[in-house]
Amino acid sequence: MALRYGHTRAVSGLVVITGGSRGIGAATARLAATRGWDVCVSYRQEAEAAAEVVADCRTAGAAALAVHADVAVEEDVLALFDQAQDRLGPLRGLVNNAGIVARQSRVADLDAARIGRLLAVNVVGAFLCAREAVRRMTEGGAIVNVSSRAAVLGAPGEYVDYAASKAAVDALTVGLAKEAAEDGIRVNAVRPGLIETDIHASGGEPGRPARIAPTVPMRRPGTAAETAEAIVWLLSPAASYVTGSFTDVSGGR
Ligand code: NAP
Repeated sequence: MALRYGHTRAVSGLVVITGGSRGIGAATARLAATRGWDVCVSYRQEAEAAAEVVADCRTAGAAALAVHADVAVEEDVLALFDQAQDRLGPLRGLVNNAGIVARQSRVADLDAARIGRLLAVNVVGAFLCAREAVRRMTEGGAIVNVSSRAAVLGAPGEYVDYAASKAAVDALTVGLAKEAAEDGIRVNAVRPGLIETDIHASGGEPGRPARIAPTVPMRRPGTAAETAEAIVWLLSPAASYVTGSFTDVSGGR
């Protein structure tokens, strides 16, 4: 039964982490497993990497599972949540982490196919997963959306479409936090800055973190593990009165 008391019960149990095979999602899965969560990671292509994450979670004492699911495909999302709950019990957490960039480009050079795919993964995917989470968190829970500092900075000359998709994730965070609060579901966002992962290579510039680092007040990129700390804290009962908030993990940038 949904909670109607305006507070959240202690959260533990199953967390679904989308895009948990690599980068920030994988670091979050590994950390969550050490903090008492059972973990279901989804992946799109890298089954082997996802299996390694699952093995590490199990070594940490968690029940863990990897499921192939493209977050932009509604049937995949439904199957992901069904399998996670069938195997690992009631859903108490979601990390809406799966996200992509496309090759660096100015707005003048964008085409509809690229913009459409980016919004399908980063925005439609985040909405579909959030929808499934609030439908299934009948005893309360916590959602952490992985946004980006790009939502604020705009990513000029690189990925304005990506920045706009993360601004949509921020609006989802604000609105859903208000909708779901009385059901005992907290919704927050983490906005990573420049984090060392494969995502920069997928945008066409593997060396981007080193190039941008001098513009970061802390003069270095962050790590996926540093980002995971903020995400797992927001999932936890330690953040029981935190909802609709944004945590920048960006070294001051
Ligand atoms: P990454 O290293 O490129 O990893 C992306 C993850 O998302 C992989 O697990 C990938 O699965 C999965 N994925 C990609 N498309 C998917 C889809 N359609 N359906 C399901 N899963 C999909 O990226 P990352 O840097 O860890 O980024 C994670 C999140 O942080 C993203 O939302 C990103 O926008 C955000 N972020 C990153 C940075 C940064 O500097 N790294 C900064 C701000 C925000 P496969 O392994 O199967 O391909």
